[in-house]
Amino acid sequence: MSKFTGITSLFYKLNKGRKIILAYHNVIPDKYFKDSINLDYSIKESQFRKHLEVIKKRFNVGVNLDNPMELTVTFDDGYKNQYLIASKILDEYNMNGYFFYAADLLDKKEILLIDKIQYWLDYICPGEYENKKYDLVLNIDDINSRRKQWSKIQGLIDKKVSFEEICYILDEMYSFKNINVDKKFYDLRFTPIKEYELNIMKDSGHKIGAHSASHNRLSNMKNDDLIKDIDRCKILLNKGIYNTKTFCYPFGGVEDVSEEAMNIVQLKGFSKGISFMNTKLKDREYSPFFIPRMTLPNTDDEDYIDFMLSGAYYFLKNGRLFPKIKKTSRKEYNYE
Ligand SMILES: [Zn+2]
Repeated sequence: MSKFTGITSLFYKLNKGRKIILAYHNVIPDKYFKDSINLDYSIKESQFRKHLEVIKKRFNVGVNLDNPMELTVTFDDGYKNQYLIASKILDEYNMNGYFFYAADLLDKKEILLIDKIQYWLDYICPGEYENKKYDLVLNIDDINSRRKQWSKIQGLIDKKVSFEEICYILDEMYSFKNINVDKKFYDLRFTPIKEYELNIMKDSGHKIGAHSASHNRLSNMKNDDLIKDIDRCKILLNKGIYNTKTFCYPFGGVEDVSEEAMNIVQLKGFSKGISFMNTKLKDREYSPFFIPRMTLPNTDDEDYIDFMLSGAYYFLKNGRLFPKIKKTSRKEYNYE
């Protein structure tokens, strides 16, 4: 008997008829998976398969966000592993998912700046690096020290220093050109999915959706920039590169997604906005433009996965159950 059994079955009952959306990022072959900042929200391939094994015993998996009887699986950002590994595994299981794809990956064909920053922190040579302008000293050694330096960089992001500027000062301290990473891993983790690969995914029934253009923290952006950014997603929607009107906010926590951003996404013709409960839900209400997702832990322990899926931990963290979906008119649904 699992230590979770009583609580797990209680929360499955409480959450019955409520909508569960799971958030994933990269799915990486076990042999390349190392403790690193750039993989903090990613999962080993074997553990991802284990999740699906537990999920399929409990739920139907599908892409209808208004159907609480289907659990929905989503992936953020749009790197190659999601085409080569995640979408192919879903195909094996006869499941479809959402893949939220940042427009910069298609337009600029290179790594997003937020990933570039983490890549730098994870892989530069040990040493002490200094930037006078921002009074920044980075001591790079083992993974723990790298994480500490990451929180210093997050401090700059909180002060609204742009990702461009951060990449610029990092490059000055240690050139991106001098960083060495296993090529196969780099391709999987840091190379964008190409347009023809997105088409193959869509042909298998997967949804490709917007995830902003720049992957900036929307709450940090000036209104003009925000509008330009979301307009670029709108262009990809009009071109049919995105085959869903669902928009997934980058980062997605309450602090990352301003009310303004939610309004602009709606004004531009997107039909839903998906968030990410990495930070606490706080007093933000559920709505069609703030639909929560949760993550499952990187574990092989089936009982633990089952416990998390039941929403027990989500409830402990947020004091709330998953959203209930109410039909308000022929085509409209509310999340409450
Ligand atoms: Zn993202």
